[in-house]
Amino acid sequence: MPEDALRIEDLVKRYPTGVEALRGVSLDIAPGELFALLGPNGAGKSTLIHCTTGLAQPTAGSIRVFGHDAIDDYGKARQAVGLAPQELNLDWFLTVEETLDYHAGYFGMPKRERRERTKELLETFSLTEKRDERTRTLSGGMKRRLILARAVMHRPRLLILDEPTAGVDVELRLELWHYVQRINQEGTTILLTTHYLEEAEQLCDRIAFINDGQIVGEGTSSELAGRYGVANLEDAYLALVGRNELSRSKIEVVS
Ligand code: ADP
Repeated sequence: MPEDALRIEDLVKRYPTGVEALRGVSLDIAPGELFALLGPNGAGKSTLIHCTTGLAQPTAGSIRVFGHDAIDDYGKARQAVGLAPQELNLDWFLTVEETLDYHAGYFGMPKRERRERTKELLETFSLTEKRDERTRTLSGGMKRRLILARAVMHRPRLLILDEPTAGVDVELRLELWHYVQRINQEGTTILLTTHYLEEAEQLCDRIAFINDGQIVGEGTSSELAGRYGVANLEDAYLALVGRNELSRSKIEVVS
């Protein structure tokens, strides 16, 4: 049997403040899957991602990325992961091209390959004309594109997208969806967090709901709707957060 792309077992994260952000989370993502993690603000999504990418230290439990332990075998585990974080954490003093080149250098990519990969991604993300501009001068949409280009620069086998389309316009959202679907079809495993339920529905094979540090449901969109006895994923989500009364089916349609 092939190894899971991501295998999380009984993960607990207690911050020094005493907040228990993850309370025994287990999750398996198979190679090639496009998997969504949905949950309200404060549910623990970012903490789970931070533990997977070494930005936070788990209190208990284990995380394996393509068989590599995220702590004991950090280098190999981290090499397999590309992270597009929610916050636009670019180095504002680098140019667009340097951003990609330095990242790839950090991940050990030889110079020539770095140059070719940078060229290719600048094209893919319509950033070629901006290559010599400092990142701080880019528009919000361009920054978002660059974050994604940087995340895939070292050809990670598992790509983690933390709310990649928050606050982006319709065209860019659809552009990103097309890109994400393409690289998934080419073999990249993807873990996506989003607040846009239609994004998860449109793109993802499987969806997990996380609430208050625990996985409370997992399956395809229709399985989840069936489990909560409702018509669609959004209503299943509302059932999860105890807000069924907000269902769109209860909003009058303006004629
Ligand atoms: P989400 O990404 O789903 O919004 P988070 O993982 O950011 O959720 O947060 C989960 C819980 O952990 C929240 O109660 C949040 O306030 C808390 N938390 C997150 N980061 C920290 C931190 N660095 N120190 C203390 N508490 C934190």
